[in-house]
Amino acid sequence: MKRICVYCGSRPGIRPVYAAAATDLGKLLAERRIELVYGGGGQGLMGLVANAVLAHGGHVIGVIPHALKTPEAVHPGLPDLRVVAGMHERKALMAELADGFIALPGGFGTYEELCEVLTWSQLGFHGKPIGLLNTAGFYDSLLHFFDHATTEGFVRPANRQLVLVEETAATLLDRIIALA
Ligand code: AMP
Repeated sequence: MKRICVYCGSRPGIRPVYAAAATDLGKLLAERRIELVYGGGGQGLMGLVANAVLAHGGHVIGVIPHALKTPEAVHPGLPDLRVVAGMHERKALMAELADGFIALPGGFGTYEELCEVLTWSQLGFHGKPIGLLNTAGFYDSLLHFFDHATTEGFVRPANRQLVLVEETAATLLDRIIALA
């Protein structure tokens, strides 16, 4: 497992527990010599996870669309920043570079990215592990909905199992590494 792609909020969330989870994950990635691939943002949980990796001597690759490469959006201190034409190219490159995926708490952008890699996995386009960090139960309702969609026959039970869910970064990382 050389690189993990992290999807997470461009905002920090209200409760400090979310920032702590992002910082924790970044530190663990650096300690385990796993490079971070992410959206290149400097704000919110995105900025926090990147800062934690860098602060602990790890490597970060940011992939940002040209239109978002503004001083407010982009992280100013990334060792490797790839600027791409648009959102589709960005998500494709992030997925290609990574050996696994982790979604932290976030908003629409995060759900979209998570569901996209899940969809690509269920279609057999990749077999990379996908983890969801359910910090303080943030994703309980989404997971409940995934169960509902499975019961109602829209998600195959085997595909429902594609999302690995843990409440701490350390346990989630262990499970992802074990699957790689
Ligand atoms: P959201 O969860 O809606 O805050 O969106 C965060 C996700 O969408 C991240 O994983 C990014 O890949 C992407 N994204 C959204 N907003 C930005 C931004 N301002 N800068 C960089 N990436 C962003």
